[in-house]
Amino acid sequence: HAKADGRKRERFFAGEMEAQMQLRHALEADLRAAVEREQFELHYQPLYDLSQHRICGFEALIRWNHPIRGRVAPMDFIPLAEEVGLIVDIGRWVLRRACSDAAQWPEGIKVAVNVSAIQFSSSDLTQDVSEALAAAALSPSRLELEITESVLMENLSEVLPILHALKERGIRISMDDFGTGYSSLSYLSSFPFDKIKIDKSFVYDIVENKEAHAIMHAIILLGDALGMRVTVEGVETAAQLALLEREECDEIQGYHISPPRPAPDVPNLLSLLQNGGELHSREARR
Ligand code: C2E
Ligand code: MG
Ligand code: MG
Ligand code: MG
Repeated sequence: HAKADGRKRERFFAGEMEAQMQLRHALEADLRAAVEREQFELHYQPLYDLSQHRICGFEALIRWNHPIRGRVAPMDFIPLAEEVGLIVDIGRWVLRRACSDAAQWPEGIKVAVNVSAIQFSSSDLTQDVSEALAAAALSPSRLELEITESVLMENLSEVLPILHALKERGIRISMDDFGTGYSSLSYLSSFPFDKIKIDKSFVYDIVENKEAHAIMHAIILLGDALGMRVTVEGVETAAQLALLEREECDEIQGYHISPPRPAPDVPNLLSLLQNGGELHSREARR
């Protein structure tokens, strides 16, 4: 019996795997079509300056409007896009769209764009960035590129000259998801990042948990000592905001300020959240 059961289970797993392969292939085909048909959309989430009490920029976050599945989150297609190389075309589209959207915003408002490791190795990123800026007539000082540790791990000697070239042109470079990689700290000394974005996993219990607070405090000091701006992602409550304000964190991002919103909502967010208006009255109500 055990043997028969084993065989049955093997057949089941083989069937499961084949079904998953088929799903992957279907998704890959859809993704190729999506690139041609530009079925993507950028949503924008405010970056909120804690000392000036105002929005200082927006992060561009991609969404895929799938004709049948509806809106697909980046985590459900970016890894596949990276694996099959489609991220290069998608990334180019993101850069162009983000720069042209940002060109419509007030001068002081920056745009942050996520860049994948593959874009460093399989395309001329500096050229793609220059073209996007030129097409939108956007000043390089208004563009921030967010990279994760995996970009640096990929090939440091190949990536560093590109980062330096981008920085020389006035583009800012942020280290995203700081603290999640096993060697984040060592990468901090390999490049003069303009900003570190502390991962949201460090935020959720800073108010209740002494140790979590202590770690946050130390990372903010570290960023400060290295002359980098410090952003905390995933801020969801007024109490977290207040604590981070006391810690002299530079910038926050999270649902408490606003979730990512479609591009046409940006002017509205700017007028609502300028000078802390809506935010402070919201806190007062709590
Ligand atoms: P990320 O760059 O770290 O972006 C922040 C993520 O946190 C976003 O998820 C955002 O919606 C989410 N978030 C914001 N505030 C809160 C909060 O208060 N609480 C919680 N729990 N989450 C919050 P999203 O939009 O699903 O994007 C996920 C990841 O996908 C991004 O993480 C980024 O790594 C990647 N990604 C998004 N757009 C692009 C893109 O255009 N190109 C590339 N290469 N990657 C992208
Ligand atoms: Mg990011
Ligand atoms: Mg992040
Ligand atoms: Mg500071």
